[in-house]
Amino acid sequence: MAIWNLGSINIDHVYRMEHLPRPGETLAASSFSTGLGGKGANQSIAAALAGAATQHLGAMGKGDDWVIDRLQSAGVGTGNILRLADTATGHAIILLDSTAENSIIIHPGANRALSVEALTGAMRALTSNDTLLIQNETNCQAEAAQIARAAGARVIYSAAPFDLEALRKVMPHVSILAMNAGEADQLFAAISGDPPVEGLLITRGAEGVEYRDLKDGKTWHHPAFPVDPVDTTGAGDTFAGYFAAALDRGDTIPEALRLASAAAALKVTRAGAGDAIPSLEEVLNFIS
Ligand code: ATP
Repeated sequence: MAIWNLGSINIDHVYRMEHLPRPGETLAASSFSTGLGGKGANQSIAAALAGAATQHLGAMGKGDDWVIDRLQSAGVGTGNILRLADTATGHAIILLDSTAENSIIIHPGANRALSVEALTGAMRALTSNDTLLIQNETNCQAEAAQIARAAGARVIYSAAPFDLEALRKVMPHVSILAMNAGEADQLFAAISGDPPVEGLLITRGAEGVEYRDLKDGKTWHHPAFPVDPVDTTGAGDTFAGYFAAALDRGDTIPEALRLASAAAALKVTRAGAGDAIPSLEEVLNFIS
């Protein structure tokens, strides 16, 4: 039992300023901070903190070794993260004004420079008891999903950021498709009937979550835990990592929904993304 997560690693550079710059305008930021982000890194951290043996599959440029340290200190296995020469580590330039309005530029860099050969080699140790997690911020998603399904593993795909073409390619190899409400609306506007997967997970923010087993038609709901929200960034990633880890250790769907809902609710009470994901101990204390 292990989780393999093919996912993005982004370094977030956050600049705060009075107003966002207009075209041609040069502004001095009032503050600057750097943090670890990317849906992939967040989901690896969540799965590892939830107690799953977690291996991150991805790529970075050279340097930025603090990112590796940060992942390792959450318990994430980093031995399969490729370090590419001449390719920048994925990063986001995040501009925030005094009203918290933002403008964001993402450079995918190494996240989209993976090779099928490297992934095939790294995934040789994956077994039928394992789970492959994927989000839509890397290349080689369909190839990795195909390898994992051929090995008999469970494949959980977070369809975010939503891209119908990417989803169509990977969907034949997906066991559980995870989406937020907006992504689900986009998918159901584009296809007729249910997607060809075994399970459908739809998170609805403060309105909770729903899981549909498309093989036997059963549906489970779990309400969101009531909290005072501070920052919802990374709530979906916390949910996905905890949900995957819960299934990996043999929890039932209702048990996995409850654990993941509690972890995501706790995350919402804290500012930040990867650094704000709670530990299993914190989550168990929260629901006890
Ligand atoms: P994000 O993109 O902000 O990471 P998302 O849009 O992918 O999130 P959501 O559906 O907003 O995902 O949230 C995922 C889960 O987090 C929800 O199903 C719920 O369990 C929890 N959650 C989100 N917002 C709240 C909230 N305000 N209060 C309690 N729990 C919340």
